[in-house]
Amino acid sequence: DGRVDWARVRADFPLLMREVHGKPLVYFDNANTGQKPLPVIASQDEFYRRQNANVSRAVHALGTEATEAYEGARGKLARFLNVRADELVLCSGTTFALNLVAYSWALPRLKAGDAILVSRMEHHANIVPWQLVAERTGATIKVAEILPDGSLDLDALYRAMTPEVKLLAVTHVSNVLGTVNPVREICREARRRGIVTVVDGSQAAPHLKLDVPAIGCDFYAITGHKMCGPTGTGALWARREHLQAMPPFIGGGEMIREVSFEGTVFNDPPHKFEAGTPNIAGFIGLGAAVDYLESLGMERVAAREAELLAHATEALQAIPGLRIFGTAPGKAAVISFLVEGAHAHDLATLLDLEGIAVRSGQHCAHPLLQYFGVAATLRASLAFYNTHEEIDRFAAALEKTRRLLVA
Ligand code: PMP
Repeated sequence: DGRVDWARVRADFPLLMREVHGKPLVYFDNANTGQKPLPVIASQDEFYRRQNANVSRAVHALGTEATEAYEGARGKLARFLNVRADELVLCSGTTFALNLVAYSWALPRLKAGDAILVSRMEHHANIVPWQLVAERTGATIKVAEILPDGSLDLDALYRAMTPEVKLLAVTHVSNVLGTVNPVREICREARRRGIVTVVDGSQAAPHLKLDVPAIGCDFYAITGHKMCGPTGTGALWARREHLQAMPPFIGGGEMIREVSFEGTVFNDPPHKFEAGTPNIAGFIGLGAAVDYLESLGMERVAAREAELLAHATEALQAIPGLRIFGTAPGKAAVISFLVEGAHAHDLATLLDLEGIAVRSGQHCAHPLLQYFGVAATLRASLAFYNTHEEIDRFAAALEKTRRLLVA
């Protein structure tokens, strides 16, 4: 009947069975990195046991198999995003993907007088590359503000889309607040004004059913390790015309067609942007992760996480002096919070002793925390394999530590 047995799904994640400080682990740091299911773990063993060879170079059987497996993973990821495989550049993660846009698209095009528009809620990976480009081109950075509930101030954003703005970089889902931005509408408004759009999909791909072309952006970046895949994997989707026009970012083998000392002919995209030996095993693992997520169904993943979020929000709201940052409707299962009278790091340290993993700090989003006027928050970020029982244990442990600290 289309229902998922979530207890069986959880059993696919061996790490979740371990103990920490003698207590069963409660892993609520999924926005930082996700845990891996058995098929992904097995794919790594299988690759190095039976298939290991370099891609795109050798004609021998292993080389062909490795190439097919690597390109097969690109195909799986492309289907997951509903994009063409030849428009998907494989790279080490969102950070690399955004830097690729910064160095290959923005750096050669922008000049003094141009502006790059970013939002207040961006991760540093979607701020710093633009600052580096701005420094080198003389362009400026404009910031679109947010509202107190942690949603984007859309009126302010559209007003900020002035003629000097050439590029808009915005996150699909906030890693701190869980806000899901209306990227389709935002990209439509940007496009009407001739502004090229970059969407950071790191926190969206693990939780939402994606249809990247329907968003209408120019670039979409994802990272594999947050969506059940290995670390060091990710991708940049870009419209074909951009990939063709952009110069390569990194030079070396695999990305060329012909090299002589008179000059080099580059390979076609996406290979033009994939110099050197890639993380072959990692991408095969990411392909297995995509298969795994598709077997669950991303709509069912999203519904499960919405249910966990509702439970966790209710449980936390019962704790005296607890303040949640980010309450926009339809948000993802990320809860940033503070408890009056207790330091975030102290709480996280004491929670760790109870086996509970939450993140404390600034979550690579200093400007966002500045908006709220706080130096740090705690962040509990949930995934479909978490349970209602874990939420209750977390809430009880939090109340216990709060009483210890707020004497
Ligand atoms: N953007 C957002 C919104 C993120 O949450 C993260 C990961 N914390 C990144 C970018 C960077 O991803 P990575 O470190 O995998 O490149």
